Amino acid sequence: MAVLTSYDPSSYHKVAGGEQIEATAVGSVEILAISQLPEVVANARMAQKSWASLSLIERQQYVVKAYQQLEAVQDELASLISQEMGKDYRRATYEVGGTIQNAPYFTGEISDALTTEKLDNRTELQYRPLGVVAVISPWNYPLAMANNLLMPALMAGNSVILKPSEETPLVAELFINTLNKVLPTNVLQLAQGDKALGQALVAADINMVAFTGSMAAGKHIMANAAPGLKRLVMELGGNDPMIVMATANIDAAVRFAVASSFENAGQMCTSTERVYVDERIADEFEQKVVAMASRYQVGKWDQAQVNIGPMVNPAQHQKVLQQLQDAKAKGAQFLLGSDDYSLPFIQPTVVSGITPDMQLEREETFGPVVAISRFSDIAEAIYRANDSQYGLAAVVFGGQGAKAVAEQLEAGMVGVNQGAGAGNAPWVGAKQSGLGFHGTAAGHRQFAQVRVMSY
Ligand code: NAD
Repeated sequence: MAVLTSYDPSSYHKVAGGEQIEATAVGSVEILAISQLPEVVANARMAQKSWASLSLIERQQYVVKAYQQLEAVQDELASLISQEMGKDYRRATYEVGGTIQNAPYFTGEISDALTTEKLDNRTELQYRPLGVVAVISPWNYPLAMANNLLMPALMAGNSVILKPSEETPLVAELFINTLNKVLPTNVLQLAQGDKALGQALVAADINMVAFTGSMAAGKHIMANAAPGLKRLVMELGGNDPMIVMATANIDAAVRFAVASSFENAGQMCTSTERVYVDERIADEFEQKVVAMASRYQVGKWDQAQVNIGPMVNPAQHQKVLQQLQDAKAKGAQFLLGSDDYSLPFIQPTVVSGITPDMQLEREETFGPVVAISRFSDIAEAIYRANDSQYGLAAVVFGGQGAKAVAEQLEAGMVGVNQGAGAGNAPWVGAKQSGLGFHGTAAGHRQFAQVRVMSY
């Protein structure tokens, strides 16, 4: 029996003269062999038929009851999130609480969105199940990201196979096993494994892939899903810009720049990745960013006061270091921190003078780094903000004219003097940050086949 072991990110350290890396195991799960996948998919297809024959209200009752079972394991879920991916326990608790508490509301909203609409007395619009949906999820919000896509997929009458991240298999196992105390057999199944299993699942006899993860994986999935023209919803990476105008409330802009760059140790799709600040206020802005960033505490999830955890694994740690080293080599100044940190943490880092040729500006940085550049002309700031394949979120801080600047930004979610995105709006990426979206009636309907019935 092949197993997948998950490791405590805060325990990674080098041994044997710095060549070998060791870590403490949190636990392990059985891997689904690729050869077993056809059987899992066939079971999903069988189960889907009776699941789809239930009314929306009946499915909603099942799902709400299933989510109620999570209340008994919420502490365990939160501590598994912390142990497997390193975020502090307070943040892990929010993630679990949000998932459980929002279930009755979201299932109600989905139910409304998928209710048959009568266009006139001879025509109706129906929202029919697609069949079997593969949900493939990342590790950075291991519960919330799986939940966001599997709930609308189930509610639409599909059966779901969840392939969680190989970094966080135990969270997924507890989540799915708990829901399955209520859900009918095989309506929701778990496929534990790595990227290779994800690829095999996309190629299997399924009808839709609902994916959250990196842009690179998204492109692979799209190509892999093409022969079967499988339906796709893809929530991908971001390289979110922030523009700080001379008229901005500097303290508010500083608070946002630091908090958003450091959230989840910088391992968040909509974290601020690059800050373009008007040169007239740049000295004050940078000084205040450094002062605030210095107060952040780095450490293990169970230590009080910690608000930046470890990088999820040595590869991610190395990637952030590489980006910092590249910036240093190309002339960036380090206002706080350095380009040299040992496993498993990256200390709060503030870099100034980033330029378009640096990886820090071009790539998604999954670490606690505030990367700043000064501008003299707002048109230049807008150009650089948009000069990216990514288009997830973007933010502008400023007085009059800030909204006009925001209107020119190429992103799915744009915030003016606040974070981007809203609770009652779709979660959506523009350009290569996504394809389709979830949330709100329009998002829920992407998990269903529209059928026009004329009679
Ligand atoms: P990842 O793309 O490496 O992996 C995500 C999942 O996809 C994992 O389960 C992995 O096993 C699987 N996978 C990887 N390659 C695959 C392939 N070719 N075919 C099928 N499955 C494949 O991403 P990650 O490192 O787990 O997560 C971080 C990324 O996710 C970041 O880019 C982040 O911005 C993004 N993200 C986006 C959102 C959003 O809402 N837009 C939310 C969270 C995370």
